[in-house]
Amino acid sequence: MKLNIHSITFKSQLLLIISILMFLSYTIFATTYENIILLFMLSIIILSYYLYKSLRPLNEEISQKESHLKDAQRIAKIGSWEYNLVTKTLSLSDEIYRILGVKLSTDIGWEDFLNYVDDNDYNKVITILDNAIKNGSQFDLRYAIKLNKNKKIHIQTTGKVRKKQDGSAKITAVSMDISNEIKNKQKIEELAYYDSLTGLANRALLKDRMSKSIQFAKRDSSKLAAIFLDLDHFKLINDTLGHDTGDDLLVYISKLLREQVREADTISRFGGDEFVILLQNIHNINDAELVAKKIQKALQEKHQIGSHQLYVTSSIGVSIFPEHADNADDLITNADTAMYEAKKSGRNGYKIYSLNMGKCANKQLNLEQSLVEAIKDKEQIEIYYQAKIDSATNSVSGAEALVRWNHPTLGLVFPDNFIYIAESTGLMVELGYVIIEKTISQIAKFNELGFIGLKVAINLSCRQFQDANLVSFILSTIDKYGVLPSQIEFEITETVSMSNTDETLRILTELNNIGVSIAIDDFGTGYSSLMYLKKFPINTLKIDRSFVMDMESDNNDREIAKTIILMANSLNLSTVAEGVESQEQANLLKEMGCNHLQGYLFSKPIPKNEFVQFLQDYTPNS
Ligand code: C2E
Ligand code: MG
Ligand code: MG
Repeated sequence: MKLNIHSITFKSQLLLIISILMFLSYTIFATTYENIILLFMLSIIILSYYLYKSLRPLNEEISQKESHLKDAQRIAKIGSWEYNLVTKTLSLSDEIYRILGVKLSTDIGWEDFLNYVDDNDYNKVITILDNAIKNGSQFDLRYAIKLNKNKKIHIQTTGKVRKKQDGSAKITAVSMDISNEIKNKQKIEELAYYDSLTGLANRALLKDRMSKSIQFAKRDSSKLAAIFLDLDHFKLINDTLGHDTGDDLLVYISKLLREQVREADTISRFGGDEFVILLQNIHNINDAELVAKKIQKALQEKHQIGSHQLYVTSSIGVSIFPEHADNADDLITNADTAMYEAKKSGRNGYKIYSLNMGKCANKQLNLEQSLVEAIKDKEQIEIYYQAKIDSATNSVSGAEALVRWNHPTLGLVFPDNFIYIAESTGLMVELGYVIIEKTISQIAKFNELGFIGLKVAINLSCRQFQDANLVSFILSTIDKYGVLPSQIEFEITETVSMSNTDETLRILTELNNIGVSIAIDDFGTGYSSLMYLKKFPINTLKIDRSFVMDMESDNNDREIAKTIILMANSLNLSTVAEGVESQEQANLLKEMGCNHLQGYLFSKPIPKNEFVQFLQDYTPNS
């Protein structure tokens, strides 16, 4: 520490001057030997006093600075240490003790100190230190240290090895706890590359990995695949069971997907309910197909999500490098296009990309635009009717109204190809108005023609339940065409019916109060629970076609159909079986006590005039 003249007080300066004056006077004026000794002693005393006085503030300053340094080290979590390579002694600052989580007085030797280094980093640390000792150079290290079995922290150490000619050698270093910095960096990386809900890779990371994989695949002529998966009807789950359940389902599915692929494959959440899987190193298209099938099988099982038992299906599109694209963007886009094709062909399936599919995607966009026109002009929207037969009397008890779109250039378009477009583009409410009005006006015509008392079922989509004017529109249309409310039934899917929102219950109750009836469509395939059946004002259960289809050969299906009918009877609900194609099925269903039958055995859905003809020609024994 250098003496600083400014830090010497005025008193000390005075003493310094007096002692210098006395020293000078004894050399000039002292006459006797005793006087010389006396004056010399006096000046030494005064000089010592001066030194004591003037250095005291410096000592205080030094100890104050030391304490500040300690504080600063503690606050910055930076500690310093020194290892004397000759005497083999290690001295540590207080902060190093704190970082290591040990008492200040603990005896820590050089070996103990190095033993704190995490096993994974130990060799690296030793090599760098050895090198710095050999060359007498600086070093910079980042490593983890283990504080106990469960706790590791990250340390950055910067130091220098000082070797002097007198043979002394020391390592002097500062070490800093950078755990928070590392954690923050990891967080930022996570946010940038991982989906926060599922923890899966996001789009950016997927594309990055896919691009790299494509580069490798180009080099070693291997193949890879993009699997684009979209959950069917996920919106319905969100809308009806709430976003929390939707989120839980997505997290659950992420885990399930992880179990279906290899460790090296990347699963990403691409959008809301869309997942893209990058399959590395496949041999051929069959490998990708196998994975697609495996995933769909796993998804089809019953899943317990919170208090709900859910069945989920998915539509999958597959594209392969190098056959279908040579870069990540195109590979994903083509898998997406193939997925769209899978959706269009009835969902719950997979499609491999083919070149002509690209054209279909454009067609889809055009379809959306022309659907807007069709709804405006109404003429292109046509209702077909499919008879329902009363199984007790064999007579026609009613019909189901099924919409068709007479597209000016494409011809007849079936509902599976445009209802989902209407639902996803906000056109469903308007389209629903056209369907309801056309059907109710047709019921009035059936009545006029003498077919009195037919009950016609209209399908309602979940989107229509979000329309506050739905009930008043139905009421005014019934009024306008003068039909009886009892001639109208609305078919809703299980997902709509079980939605626990007050709004759904309100709409269903109001419809029930008007006197129209409510049927649950495709019963047995959705997420129904008996509780909902009791809670909602429901009149009819429609047994899904899938149970009817194989009921002659499949015991399970037969049992399910039987149980649904028994349950409906006990709840005072009427039953309709859909998709009845054979006389055997009709006989079985009648035996089980099913009230109404609908299917190609009796009639396909047909235009209104043909349906009138059908009614005229129909005899209960035919
Ligand atoms: P859904 O309500 O379950 O209608 C029954 C579907 O099964 C109809 O197909 C019908 O043609 C078909 N089907 C009837 N009997 C048989 C049979 O014996 N064998 C076979 N293989 N199929 C049979 P469609 O008309 O193509 O309608 C498909 C779905 O589109 C309907 O299923 C319904 O969910 C929806 N949909 C139809 N019309 C409307 C509508 O006006 N509004 C709304 N929101 N959805 C509609
Ligand atoms: Mg229906
Ligand atoms: Mg149905």
